[in-house]
Amino acid sequence: MRIVGIEGTAWAASAALFDTETGEVFIESDPYEPDSGGIHPREAAEHMSDAVPAVISTVLDHAAETAESDGVDVDDDEEPSGGRQAAAIDGVAFSRGPGLGPCLRIVGTAARSLAQTLDVPLLGVNHMVAHLEIGRYQSGFDSPVCLNASGANAHLLGYHNGRYRVLGETMDTGVGNAIDKFTRHVGWKHPGGPKVERAAEDGDYYDLPYVVKGMDFSFSGIMSAAKQAADDGVPVEDVCVGLQETIFAMLTEVAERALSLTGTDELVLGGGVGQNARLRAMLAEMCEQRGAEFYAPDPRFLRDNAGMIAVLGARMLAAGDTVAVADSAVDANYRPDQVPVSWRDDEES
Ligand code: ATP
Repeated sequence: MRIVGIEGTAWAASAALFDTETGEVFIESDPYEPDSGGIHPREAAEHMSDAVPAVISTVLDHAAETAESDGVDVDDDEEPSGGRQAAAIDGVAFSRGPGLGPCLRIVGTAARSLAQTLDVPLLGVNHMVAHLEIGRYQSGFDSPVCLNASGANAHLLGYHNGRYRVLGETMDTGVGNAIDKFTRHVGWKHPGGPKVERAAEDGDYYDLPYVVKGMDFSFSGIMSAAKQAADDGVPVEDVCVGLQETIFAMLTEVAERALSLTGTDELVLGGGVGQNARLRAMLAEMCEQRGAEFYAPDPRFLRDNAGMIAVLGARMLAAGDTVAVADSAVDANYRPDQVPVSWRDDEES
């Protein structure tokens, strides 16, 4: 089975081809990089409309080439929907949300058009569940807890009674967005996360507020304190160390509690902030200390990417979980616990 995935919830215009026979995930992405400030929804949407056709086209060419090398006749002129591409593709999966509405609408339109042109099923994927499932698929874990540490989100997910439940989450901004707000304040270009990671290599720890309430956590007070510290002349490298140590310790604490409460001994990481080596080290150490297993996907599957959309789309298609074009509206606030999990064959709670 070959599934095309299309992603475009915020900054990454991305398309992918997942081949279930070979396991290959071919990804083509074109990032939106704001000249100044953070992600502007209108500019991001303009980027999607410019870049999505090109990334899809590259992936369709790759699909046709790989199908041809597998002996499929991809030049069938009899095929009403364009045999060259239809021969290679069984379904089109797209990010239905959560994300920026103007971006989602462009990606949704592209996915519907492609599915109709190729006359194949459409698969509406929840972007945050895809962040989780790529880790579960690659690790081979059975029923892990997932820490999604992304730009616009931060939450712990665990499976119970046919859905991924939100065990704990941010009470204000997503973790990456919080870090990016600090770096904008000190004049660094978006995205800020990698710059904080680099700067922290040269700093000493600076104390910042630690805000965990039950299973939830908050970043807004930390960010205000970090900005104030920078304004007061604390070396920015020291603030970056404080930011990483404080925020990642909070996420690690709640991840550990989620493992403890669910009785699970498997943790997967998802989201762009998961590219940070310090966060991965803290989570790995916590898991090692409690005898749990930890898995972090490669960076290309952590940041926003269409590969994870295609991989989950394939599993949804195998489960018959398709969506009619008429019912495929995007949802900017699509929560992971709204998704009936059709593709898991287990019934465990
Ligand atoms: P979501 O998946 O919730 O829609 P998103 O679309 O913003 O989030 P992601 O690709 O998951 O996108 O994450 C992007 C975020 O990751 C940005 O905020 C960026 O600063 C952060 N980030 C990237 N690399 C690092 C790093 N090395 N350390 C910390 N943060 C990082």
